[in-house]
Formats: sequence, C-alpha cells, structure tokens
Amino acid sequence: MAVHLVGRSAPANLRLSGAVPFRGAMVVRGHLLGTTFLDEESFEQARIDCQGGTDAKRGDQCLACPRLLSYEDGDEPGEVVVTCAWAHFDPVSARMTGVRALVAVPSTTECGEAARLADEVGVHHLLVVDGGSLVGVASSRDLRTDALAPVSSVMAGEVFAVAPSASLGEAAAAMSALNIGCLPVVRDGLVVGIVTLGDLRRAGLQA
Ligand code: SF4
Repeated sequence: MAVHLVGRSAPANLRLSGAVPFRGAMVVRGHLLGTTFLDEESFEQARIDCQGGTDAKRGDQCLACPRLLSYEDGDEPGEVVVTCAWAHFDPVSARMTGVRALVAVPSTTECGEAARLADEVGVHHLLVVDGGSLVGVASSRDLRTDALAPVSSVMAGEVFAVAPSASLGEAAAAMSALNIGCLPVVRDGLVVGIVTLGDLRRAGLQA
C-alpha cells in the first residue's frame, strides 16, 4: 500500500506526463446598470454573478481579472454574458470537502456496512484509514462486490493524493491521467480533505 503525492514537484508527477490539459470555460451572467447598451464603459459598472455563487463583481473587476475571456449581450435587455476561464489555477483547498465532512472507515470494516455508510451520507468514495494513516480509497462500486469481505480486499491500496496547495487544474489532469474519480488531499502526511470529479464539475470543469 502506498500514497503517492501528485502535482507540482511531487514524485508521482511523471505519471502525469501525457495528461490532457484542461481547457474549460464557464459562463456567468450579470446586468448593466442604468442602460441596456453594452460597451466597455457600461460593462465597467455592470454587476456580474461571479463564478456561480461567490460575491457579485463589478465589470471593472472582471476587466482586471485574469480569468476574463469575453463578454457580450445576453438575451434579455441589459443582460450581459461573461465567459471566464475555468479556475484551473485555484488551489484544491478552495473546492475540496474538508476534514469535518470526510467519511472514512478502517480497512477491517465489512463492505456491506461501508456501502450502507456511503449511501447514508451520499458519497461515492470512502477513505480507508488505519491508525490515523490513509491506506486506501474504496468506491461504492467496489464495496458492492462482496458484503461480508473486509474493505481492505476491494479498496485501491495504491492511493494518489494532492496537496491542498496544488491547483484544481493539476487535480483534473491527475484524475484524467490516472482514470480515477477522486483524490485525497494530504498535508504533511495527514488527510485534510478529498476532491472529487463532482467538485471539479461544480467548479466549471467541462472537458
Ligand atoms: S472574469 Fe473574473 S471576476 Fe469576472 S466573473 Fe469571471 S471570474 Fe469573476
């Protein structure tokens, strides 16, 4: 069993050569203030619903934002549609599920019990932790093979993980290259979170 850290300057980086770089974009909307005519001046004053839920931004902040790809009129009068680069350079810590919400089981847990737990809390991956150390990851599909078998017999014992400071783009590239649906997030050898394909999709991953 081994935990490999992926991402910048991590030993497992070589496994990522050939990873498809992420080229996503996400569309957010906003509205012009006091006019329906869109030009740079009116856009500077516009209110933009930044990145699906975080604080609204003014258009001049978008113009200074490295993520801005384009802006154009929307369908409604005064509506503006902004296309932003996906936040591939944001840190994993911005989108991961943190330690308080982590769901982990010891490797001796029976698969049936672990599967029930995964269903109950609505997760697709369980971390397997023995004596405080991460020893594997089990998907809900793995857990359905034999209800009485211990989790250790079905889990992936070779675990790939990222640091919280790794970028979401690195995490996406790692998941794509390794064909996995989640990465535990590890700091100084301790699990501090998990980032899943679902988290990346919610962040705007389209590729
Ligand atoms: S361009 Fe930047 S500030 Fe504007 S909506 Fe996109 S991410 Fe937010």
